[in-house]
Amino acid sequence: MSVKINVPEIYASNVFDDATMKQRLPKKIYAEFRQTLMQGKDLEPHVAEIIAHEMKEWALEKGATHYTHWFQPLTNITAEKHDAFINPQNDGTLLLSFSGKELIKGEPDGSSFPSGGIRATCEARGYTAWDCTSPAFIRETPGSTAVLCIPTIFCSYTGEALDKKTPLLRSMEAINKQALRIVRLFGDTETSKIITSVGPEQEYFLVDKPTYDQREDLIFTGRTLFGAPAPKGQELDDHYFGVIKERVLDYMTELNEELWKLGIRSKTQHNEVAPGQHELAPIYDTTNVATDHNQLIMDLMKKVALRHNLVCLLHEKPFAGINGSGKHNNWSLSTDTGVNLLDPGDTPHANKQFLLVLAAVLKAVNEYAPILRNSAANPGNDHRLGANEAPPAIISVFLGDQLNDVLKQLCEVGEATRSLEGSTLDTGVSTVPVFDKDATDRNRTSPFAFTGNKFEFRMVGSSASVADANIALNTIVAETLSQAADILEAADDFEDAFHDLVKRWVIENKQVIFNGDGYSKAWVEEAARRGLPNIDNTVDATSVLSDPKTIEVFEKHGVYTRVELLAREEVGYENYSKAINIESRTMIDMARKQIIPAVIEASSEIAQGIVSLKAVGMDSSVSESILSKITEHLKALYAAVEQLEKATDAAVAIEDPKAQAMAFRDHVFSAFPAVREPADQLELLVSKKKWPFPTYSDLLFNV
Ligand code: ADP
Ligand code: MG
Repeated sequence: MSVKINVPEIYASNVFDDATMKQRLPKKIYAEFRQTLMQGKDLEPHVAEIIAHEMKEWALEKGATHYTHWFQPLTNITAEKHDAFINPQNDGTLLLSFSGKELIKGEPDGSSFPSGGIRATCEARGYTAWDCTSPAFIRETPGSTAVLCIPTIFCSYTGEALDKKTPLLRSMEAINKQALRIVRLFGDTETSKIITSVGPEQEYFLVDKPTYDQREDLIFTGRTLFGAPAPKGQELDDHYFGVIKERVLDYMTELNEELWKLGIRSKTQHNEVAPGQHELAPIYDTTNVATDHNQLIMDLMKKVALRHNLVCLLHEKPFAGINGSGKHNNWSLSTDTGVNLLDPGDTPHANKQFLLVLAAVLKAVNEYAPILRNSAANPGNDHRLGANEAPPAIISVFLGDQLNDVLKQLCEVGEATRSLEGSTLDTGVSTVPVFDKDATDRNRTSPFAFTGNKFEFRMVGSSASVADANIALNTIVAETLSQAADILEAADDFEDAFHDLVKRWVIENKQVIFNGDGYSKAWVEEAARRGLPNIDNTVDATSVLSDPKTIEVFEKHGVYTRVELLAREEVGYENYSKAINIESRTMIDMARKQIIPAVIEASSEIAQGIVSLKAVGMDSSVSESILSKITEHLKALYAAVEQLEKATDAAVAIEDPKAQAMAFRDHVFSAFPAVREPADQLELLVSKKKWPFPTYSDLLFNV
C-alpha cells in the first residue's frame, strides 16, 4: 500500500506565514506589519507585542513549549538556543508568555561562534534580531515537544555582522536600489521593489547507517579518506534518473512531507550520476527565504535519514573516483509587479532592458570573478573545482546560441536587429506530436550558465549555505547596474548612450563568455590565454576577501565593512586549517589503529601458511609473492603516516592564520595521497574478512 499525503492540507501548516497572520492578527496590526515588510519601516513595539502574543498562542496550539532565535553563524549550519515560554507568577503558578521584546531581540552568549577576531571572548555579547521577512515556523521532532523558531540575524555588540543573513539582506537591498534605477530609466514608474529569487538544487548521498558507523573518516570528516574503487562505479550511466529504490523513496516521501509542512516547495527528486547519489530541488523563492529553506532542507535531509537507518552525506566529495555533490544556485531578478529582468522574451535583440541587465551581469562576472569564486570556496569543494571534476575553477559564462548571436550583431554591426528562433522538433514517431524546441541548447559544464530566464551558478558546494554565493552575486551586479545607471541617467541622448554602453561592455567583457566544454584541458589553456583567473584552492580563494577591489565594492554598497571582510578572511583560513587537521588526524588514526594492525595480522597468517606449505614440500610462491607486495605497501604506508604526522604537527604550531592554512594545504593536504595510495593497494591484496572497515562496494551499493 502506498502512503497518502494530503499535500494542500499539510502545506505550510507549521509556518506562521502571511495567511496565518492575516487570519489571526487584528486588521490594523496586520496592515502595520505589512507596511514594515513592504516599505522597510521600523517595527513599532506595540505591533511586535501583539504579533508575539499571537505567535505564541499559535505555537502552543501546535504543541510548542519553547521558542528559539534561529540564526546562521559563519559555520554553514544554523544555531539555536531554546527558551521555554514559562513565566513564574507571584502566587507560585506559571504563565506561558512571549513578549514583543523577546520576539525582536535575543542575546545569546556568542563567544564560541567564529568571529574572525571581531569580538574577543571577554566581549561575549552578541545579539539576534528578528528578520521579519522570513516567517517563523514550528520545528517538530518525534518524541519531543515542538519548538517555535524565529529566523534572526546575528551581530556583535558593536553592530558587525557575525552571520550570513545580515550581509545577505544588505545585498538584497543593494541590488534593489540599483536595479530600481535601471527600470525607472526604461519608464517603469510602478515597480516599488526589485526582488532576487533563488532556486537551489541540492545534491546528496545516502549510505546505510550501520555501514557508516564503521567508518571513522565518514563520522569525523564527512568523506572517505581511504577506499579502493569498487569494481563498478558510474560508468554504465545506470544511476542517473534511474528507478528510485524503495528504501530511498520511503526516505524521500517522509522528507517531502516534513518540507511541505514547513512551506518548503520541494518539487523535484531524482537519482544523480554517482551510485548512492540523489538530488532535491524546491521551487524558487525570494533569496532570503530560499536560503533559510536550503538550511532547513539540509538539516531535515540528515535528520530524516537517521529515522530510516540511513546517513545523508552533504560533503562535496564523499568518495574518490565518482562524482561529488554541488548545489546549483539558480538566480534571477524581478520586479514586484512580476517582470523578470532576465527574461529575454521571444525577441531578445529588441528587449533593451534585458540587454542592459545582461551586459551588466557579464561585466560583473568578468570583473569580479574572484569574488564569485571565493563565494563557492570550502575545503570540500576543492575536490570538485579545478580538481578532477567539474565545474572547473575558472569562472566563465554560457549564453547559448540565441544570445551569442545577438551579442555578436551588437559587437560587429553595432546594432542587433534579429533573434534566432527556436525551431520545432519532429521525432519521427507519428503518435508523438511535433513540439517547439528552445532557441538554445543547455551546457552542463559551465559554472555560470544562462538557462532561459535565469543564471545558474553551479560552483556552490553541496554543504555550503547559499548565502555567500548570493551575497556575492547581488553585490557585484548591484555595482555594474549602478555604473550603468550613473551613465544613462546623465546622458543627453538616452538611445545613443544605451547603445554605446551595451556594445562597449559586451566587447570589454566577452572573454568571459565560453560555450564549449568547460571540463576539457583545452579550456584551461584557452582561459589562461584569455587572462581569466583560475583559483584552484580555498586558501587562495579566501585571500580574495582582503583585495582592495573586494573591499571597495562591498563597502560601497553597504554589504560588508572592511572589518567584516577581514574577519571572514580569517574565519576562512581557520576553517580550512581545522578541516584539514581533522582529516589528517583521522587518517593517521585509521592507518595506525586499524589498517596497519589488520595488515600485520594478515601478513603473519600468510607467513605461517608459507611455513606450513614448505614443511610439506609444497610450492609457496604465490603466498610469497603476495606477502612481499603487502610488505612493500605496508612499509610505504608506515613511512607516509610518520611523515604526515610531522607535517601536521608543524602546521598546527604556526600562529598566523594565513601561513597556517598555506602549510596545511602545501604540506598536509598534499601528503594525503602518499598515505592513501598504499593503503588502497593493501585493501586490494588483503582478505576482505581481515579488512577493518566497509569498502566502497559496501558503502555505495547496499542501500
Ligand atoms: P534543471 O536545471 O535541473 O533542469 P530547472 O532549470 O527546471 O531544473 O530548475 C532548477 C531550479 O531553478 C528550480 O529550483 C527552479 O524552481 C529554479 N528556477 C526556475 N525559474 C527560476 C527563476 N526565474 N529564478 C530563479 N530560480 C528559478
Ligand atoms: Mg539546473
